[in-house]
Parts: sequence; structure tokens; C-alpha cells
Amino acid sequence: MKIDRSEQIRLMAIHAHPDDESSKGAATIARYHHEGVHTTLVCCTGGEEGDILNPKARNLVANKDIAAVRREELDNAAKIIGYDELILLGFRDSGMPGSDTNNHPEAFSHVPIEETIEKLVAVIRKNRPHIIITYADERDRYPHPDHIRVHEASVVAFDHAGDPKKYPDAGKPWQPSRLYYVFFSGQRILELHKKFLEAGKESPFGKEWIERASSWMGNDHIIRVDVTGYTHIRREALLAHVTQIDPESSFWFGLPDDVIDSVAPVDDYLLAKITDEHGNIVDVERLYGSNNPDDRKKAKAILNAVQGDLIG
Ligand SMILES: [Zn+2]
Repeated sequence: MKIDRSEQIRLMAIHAHPDDESSKGAATIARYHHEGVHTTLVCCTGGEEGDILNPKARNLVANKDIAAVRREELDNAAKIIGYDELILLGFRDSGMPGSDTNNHPEAFSHVPIEETIEKLVAVIRKNRPHIIITYADERDRYPHPDHIRVHEASVVAFDHAGDPKKYPDAGKPWQPSRLYYVFFSGQRILELHKKFLEAGKESPFGKEWIERASSWMGNDHIIRVDVTGYTHIRREALLAHVTQIDPESSFWFGLPDDVIDSVAPVDDYLLAKITDEHGNIVDVERLYGSNNPDDRKKAKAILNAVQGDLIG
């Protein structure tokens, strides 16, 4: 279903921790904000378990509460990116995969998923976004328990927000029109790796990365959003997370913006769900994964119709 452009378009991105909004899709948000789209960031946890990854920042925060520091960093990054609104769901960071903090009784990944879904349904109904961006199921890539949770809860919240029978106390139903997964494609990793080598630099993408990236190819349903002129936003927003991001990191900052732009100034997404002309939800991800060629053809036609534009 075409999105009605006669009113202001609203976009909501759902992230797990402060800094995820900067590493994933920051340039896209900057572009759409600049084009007049209302942008909302939902951050599920406070990042309480974040390590200080920038050695120079250690002294700065020695006696401070890390959650308060990260809140300030998040505010700064959200401003740089161009988020109009920031909503904190207030859950507790579960910590890196496999760490003891995963078992903290209040850890986000332990909270009953129904509770998270209801909170997300409530913010969706309040903000009425046309577009929602969240994470794919990336268990095999980055199995952070909070990221897995964000995926699981937001996919269901997308379906339930428009259903008057679900969560009747969470506000007036609103059905968003598009659900996207922010995505770092194998193709993109290989392209960036090549640029490091061409520049005579050591690539942060080692053998393991390259092997994995090669196995992530073949996602022909990637949507590449043009972010020409906004590439620098990602770098600037990441640097706002002073305690979390090492400015010397070659992973984040090894290539100058113009070189990244010469690869392709794009952010990659997967289209997960869309509403049809009757307002029914079509599970594009399922159609793409189907064994039935007709399903895949249908998915391809939907994708072609929106290609290159999250609002398309
Ligand atoms: Zn995260």
C-alpha cells in the first residue's frame, strides 16, 4: 500500500543500546529528517553494562555512573543524527553474550517478552509511525541477547499495534505500513575490505570476517538507501559516544568518508513486512524464504515497487 504523503511521514527506529543508533542507519535517519520526515528513536536499554572502550575516556568517567554518562552521549548522538524524539523504554542492558550479567534478574533479555511487546505497542500507537526500522534475526552473526530480544518483540509489536483485540489498554490501534531490518550486507563488507587493501591499510575485516561475509551474499532483497552527503553523520554520531568508541579504531574510522562514498554511499536494509491495499500485513521475509517460486516472485515485485526508498 502506498504511504499517504499528504501528512508528515513518521519513522521510528528501535534499538537495543545507546550507540546502536549511530552504528546502524544513522545516515539514513539524517537524510529523512532533512527531507521533513518525523524521526523517533526508541532505545530499549540504558547500556548499563557498556565497557569503556576508549582508553582516553577512562579518567573522564572514573567516578560517574556509566548509565548517566551513556544517557548524555545518547542525547548528543541523537541530536547529531537528527532524531526529533527519543524514547527510553528503561530496560536493563543484559551485557555481552555469555557474560554473567545475562543472568541479572532485571536484564532486558529476561523480562517476559509480553511486557516488552506491550511497551512497544504503546509507543507505536502513540507516535503512529508509517515506517519502523528494527533488527533482523541475527543470532548467527551477532548473538547479543538484547538485539535478539529487540527483533523478537518488535516484529510482533508491528503486527499487534493495529489489532484492536490486542492490548486494548495500550492506546488507539495504529498499523505501521513498513517494517525494515537495518542490515550490514556481506557485499558491503567485501567492498570495504577491498578499499582498505587498495589504500595499503590493514583491513579490520580479518579472514573470519571475509569468510562469514562471503556466506552472507545472495541477499538479493536488500534495499540500498542512498545517503549521499550524509556519510559523515555516522562518524560524528559514533564519536559522541565518547566512552564507547575509540576514535583510533580502524574498524569504525579506518577509511575516510570520501573513500566510503566511492564504494557506495548507501545504508542497507531488508524489507520484512508491508501492508497491502486492504491494510493487511504481507510477510515479505516469509515470501522471500518460501520454496514456492510464486511467493518469491510476489516478494520481488513488492521489493521493486519500493526499491531504494524506505517510504516508497
Ligand atoms: Zn547493542
